[in-house]
Amino acid sequence: STVIETVGLDLAREELRRLFGFSDFRGRQADVVTRVLAGQSTLAVMPTGAGKSLTYQLPATMLEGTCVVISPLIALMHDQLRSARANGIRAATLTSADADWRETMDAFRAGELDLLYVAPERASQAGFRDLLTSARLALFAVDEAHCVSEWGHDFRPDYRQLRPLMDAFPDVPRLALTATADAHTRADILTQLGLPEEGLIVAGFDRPNIRYAIRPRDSLPRQLAQVCADNPGPGIVYAPTRRKVEQLAEQLAEATGRPVLPYHAGLPPEVRAENQAKFVASEDMVMVATIAFGMGIDKPDVRFVAHAATPKSIEAYYQETGRAGRDGDPAVALMLWGAGDFAQARMRIGEVEQARQHGERQRLDALAGLVETAGCRRAVLLRHFGEDPPDTCGNCDNCLDPPQVIEVTQLARKLLSAVYRTGQSFGFGHLQKVLTGVADDRVVSKQHDRLTVFGIVEGEDAALLQAVARALQVRGCLVQTEHGGLALAGDARAILTGEAPLVMAKPPQRRGSRKGRGGS
Ligand code: ADP
Ligand code: ZN
Repeated sequence: STVIETVGLDLAREELRRLFGFSDFRGRQADVVTRVLAGQSTLAVMPTGAGKSLTYQLPATMLEGTCVVISPLIALMHDQLRSARANGIRAATLTSADADWRETMDAFRAGELDLLYVAPERASQAGFRDLLTSARLALFAVDEAHCVSEWGHDFRPDYRQLRPLMDAFPDVPRLALTATADAHTRADILTQLGLPEEGLIVAGFDRPNIRYAIRPRDSLPRQLAQVCADNPGPGIVYAPTRRKVEQLAEQLAEATGRPVLPYHAGLPPEVRAENQAKFVASEDMVMVATIAFGMGIDKPDVRFVAHAATPKSIEAYYQETGRAGRDGDPAVALMLWGAGDFAQARMRIGEVEQARQHGERQRLDALAGLVETAGCRRAVLLRHFGEDPPDTCGNCDNCLDPPQVIEVTQLARKLLSAVYRTGQSFGFGHLQKVLTGVADDRVVSKQHDRLTVFGIVEGEDAALLQAVARALQVRGCLVQTEHGGLALAGDARAILTGEAPLVMAKPPQRRGSRKGRGGS
């Protein structure tokens, strides 16, 4: 069979040149294409930009019959359709947005389509199954396959209907594709889509040209203006809400003098399309956007991706930062985070259905680990995706400027006991006053100036309090109550009683103030 495979692959390489104009396969594309041509079901895990679409588009042109592609976003499908057709591939979409569905169905039945793109909602429709029986099928390609798993960050119930649909066509091979799958999600995708274990192909996740940096947020507009100034090429700033997008877009336009446009789901579709087109064409634009922006956009020269708040998970972070530097030239990924991001995320976990809370909590803890590490960011990322990277990469903030690791258990105990003694209902500002001995009206009226913890933090420790509070919140030892106060949670007691130490990276100094500190 190896002879047949080699011949198949040689033919495929010819088609690759003829149809796509590429000289050769990249990464693990050849392995995936070989399996698909041999009719073997496969799960391809490849990072964004690795060239997943080609692994089904190319076999679709070579195999007899139509390749049915399940893809979750109509906008994404239409992009794919355009590029497939541009390469001379006979492709069509069957979505609620298409007026030409009758022609599409006729073309499918007549065997004139290489690719038929559909949304997962179709899978459960009896009419669609009937349609599929009316022509020859070459392959099922399931894009964004992590959507089938509750372990994934983007679960879509419709994906669960794909298995029964595909099971109705047992002779048609399956190709599932995803950019974001940790080991757990991977195993789940195999089960949920009925794929053999040996069909798993994982491409390397490293993006060596991306420089990762993660730092606390102090002044968002100033920090973002700085990254814009340091990186004159096109950039994306991800903001958590539509309002924040609008606000930051205005601030950045003013502060940087660069072209800046907003993008979020609240804008009219034509404005979104126009802004996106302008960004794709621009060499210096900054797009301030919610995560609605970016899926399926083919802009190789994005020079930076900045997060104005923490992303949802490591997977989301990897995918969003992965839009930087697809051309292989140096690019920057900067995450600016605050303790509030984690506090809010933990509160939201309390609101999701019980069965999913455990997974969500693990995902958040993994993200916290990335944010809090004093070690190499890339190593944490790659280990998360099941790789075994070297301990240092030389191209992340912590490798380039290793932070000092400090033990702050005593200070953490003081803070936690202040939280406890004030009744677990006050915010950080108040606790800071109590601990550093500031007797303002509120402190006096609550008689907090008489507590044993009043004024027990001084000198350098006072400057570290905020970072310690942040570290405790990231670790879930301090949580925010409904009224904005801080309360003990998780391992707080172990730290209070001295059973568990608290070690953290020394917080970075603001730019400009570093020199004045006498080089510690
Ligand atoms: P993914 O879906 O994995 O994010 P795409 O399928 O969108 O990636 O491909 C990313 C880019 O890489 C596209 O511009 C595509 O044309 C290009 N590409 C894919 N395969 C190859 C190849 N073998 N050689 C050169 N470029 C390729
Ligand atoms: Zn590193």
